Amino acid sequence: MAKKELTVPEKLKSLYNLQKIDNKLKEINILRGELPVEVQDLEDYIQGLEARAEKVKIALEEIDHEDNKYTASIKEAEMLIEKYNAQLDKVKNNREYEALSKEIEMQHLEIQLFEKKKKTLSNTRQVKSEAQEVTMERIKDRQLILEQKKKELDEIIASTEAEEEKLLKKQKTARNRIKDSILDSYDRIRSTYKNGLAVVPITRDACGGCFHFIPAQTQLEIQLKKQIISCEYCGRIIVDNETAGIKTPLKV
Ligand SMILES: [Zn+2]
Repeated sequence: MAKKELTVPEKLKSLYNLQKIDNKLKEINILRGELPVEVQDLEDYIQGLEARAEKVKIALEEIDHEDNKYTASIKEAEMLIEKYNAQLDKVKNNREYEALSKEIEMQHLEIQLFEKKKKTLSNTRQVKSEAQEVTMERIKDRQLILEQKKKELDEIIASTEAEEEKLLKKQKTARNRIKDSILDSYDRIRSTYKNGLAVVPITRDACGGCFHFIPAQTQLEIQLKKQIISCEYCGRIIVDNETAGIKTPLKV
């Protein structure tokens, strides 16, 4: 279906209106665009911390297991010492006495060795336990932040969904009114510039997009709205204040 030809002022007004709609849609996307990434980053970070905590937990269990083994070995050595001491009372000769005494000494040395190992384990356990506490605390903190962010994101999605739908409908209607060739250049200019502005007002005698000076004659032509005028530096379409909905302050 052919689009009804609009007058130049109508074209300019439609373009400026379309840009307002597009900017609002862009704002919604920006608003949402960062939170999902933040939520994902936090989830990954917490997952990493939890994996680390799990490893330390296993290491601590291994330490306890080792420690129990040494405790049992010490007990065993003590029992042997007790047994050898009892045998000492019944020795028949010097050789037996010396052999038993040597055994007892050996067991004492063993006990010393196990106790030294237990001490080392105890130090390692302390360091790991302290690190574990810090990790658990950090997990708790980040989880709180994550819950807040998730809630925020849910709220933004809930509150912007309806608006976005309305804007998309308005966008479709607005685009339908404008000629394809104008739309093409509008889309091209918008995608070229970071701020996404394709239609700009005159700002202090300059293009509102690139701030290059606009000669008085061109400014007059823009006010007259006989044709669409683009900035000769940046290519943006320039509109007068009335089209841009800007109230001109009274000149004193
Ligand atoms: Zn310009």
